[in-house]
Amino acid sequence: MPKTTAVSWQKKSLAFGLAAAVYGVLWLIRFPCLFFTATGVPCPGCGMSRALWALLQGHIGEAVRWHPMVFSLPVIGLLIWTDGALFRRPWADRLLLIGIGVGFLACYVMRLSGVWLTRII
Ligand SMILES: [Zn+2]
Repeated sequence: MPKTTAVSWQKKSLAFGLAAAVYGVLWLIRFPCLFFTATGVPCPGCGMSRALWALLQGHIGEAVRWHPMVFSLPVIGLLIWTDGALFRRPWADRLLLIGIGVGFLACYVMRLSGVWLTRII
């Protein structure tokens, strides 16, 4: 039997739970984005907490306004859970990751152009 390096589901569950707990505590104490605090420019993830919260409350439009890539979070979670092998074809996983990356980049560019336009005008 080949030796596998895959992480067990128990360790993944623990990691997901810890990450969710840390994220929840940071959100509850309104811990500011360090990138935004340091630079005054939003990071690619800014607004994701508010978007996720709005989505959990069923406010889809509000969630999209906060961060349109909020719907990629479950997909990213599934990709992590499956060790990057969500599909049977590796190219499909790579294509999905590239699509998510392009989506984040497009949202970030649009957000930055809005930030800079408001500073110029
Ligand atoms: Zn941020």
